[in-house]
Amino acid sequence: QAKNNGRNTVHFYSPPDVSDTINPLDLEIHLHSAIERNELVLHYQPKIDLEKEDIIGVEALIRWNHPKWGVVSPGTFIPIAEESGLIIKIGEWALREACIQNKIWQEQGITGVMSVNLSPRQFQKVDLVETVERILLETGLQPSLLELEITESMTVNIEQTITTLQRLKKLGVIISIDDFGTGFSSLNYLKQFPVDTLKIDQSFVRELQTDTSDATIVKTIIAMAHNLKLNVVAEGIETKEQFAFLQQHLCNEGQGFFFSQPVPASEMQERRLEIKKLLKTQRELLN
Ligand code: C2E
Ligand code: MG
Ligand code: MG
Ligand code: MG
Repeated sequence: QAKNNGRNTVHFYSPPDVSDTINPLDLEIHLHSAIERNELVLHYQPKIDLEKEDIIGVEALIRWNHPKWGVVSPGTFIPIAEESGLIIKIGEWALREACIQNKIWQEQGITGVMSVNLSPRQFQKVDLVETVERILLETGLQPSLLELEITESMTVNIEQTITTLQRLKKLGVIISIDDFGTGFSSLNYLKQFPVDTLKIDQSFVRELQTDTSDATIVKTIIAMAHNLKLNVVAEGIETKEQFAFLQQHLCNEGQGFFFSQPVPASEMQERRLEIKKLLKTQRELLN
């Protein structure tokens, strides 16, 4: 499957997903032993400060390398994990792994924020805050270098959401709302939630150049975030035109294939250098 992004055409090859051929029950059975068999890995996607044009952190994105089926995408197995309850174990593994990795990077002199996705079931678990606190203590990671991404759909019980968020904030971690604009976002709740960041969903970024309503929505979310003193991030930046638009409209941060796809930790150093080069070239073209 090739995607055409206008002038700078980029091709992303996506092999057929196992969800087309393997039934969910088999996936679930195999998922049970995936952690023990070391089949789960985290990839990391760099996040860029659009004003300073510098890498400021990464988002951890889970991958499942099945020995026979190959790579199973989180879009396929996270819903199964969520439904079966396996997400608790998998989510805790991912959180610990991400904190360990960020601690390693920090000790190497690369300080940045590590963002980790939480799914609804993880967020609603009564001992979430204790788990996060314990993992921070175990790994020795500074809480301010951990960001937790939640989605609007998690906020079924408003009172409980506020309490959990307040307790997480007290630990010192950063909270962001992922896929913002796609869920049920009452502005009243947004006002009450102690969150730090809004992540504009990639569906709005995709058509930025061609769909004037998407462009308006993006500008509006940025303005609203700033008025509420929130940081705003754009996901799914694939072209230099999208990058330029978001920079021009003062979006604080961005991530997407234009800068880098998610990569294993071992490739991050190389990726950082490539991004620095890319940003330098972009600047020179403008001057
Ligand atoms: P998300 O948190 O919204 O992550 C962004 C998704 O967009 C990732 O897909 C990422 O690879 C992809 N992406 C990044 N830049 C671009 C771009 O420029 N263009 C396009 N087309 N896509 C881009 P991925 O890795 O397949 O993850 C899908 C979702 O699975 C994530 O969405 C997140 O909700 C969930 N997920 C991933 N890892 C974890 C995890 O450790 N725990 C939990 N609970 N959920 C996870
Ligand atoms: Mg995310
Ligand atoms: Mg997410
Ligand atoms: Mg998202």
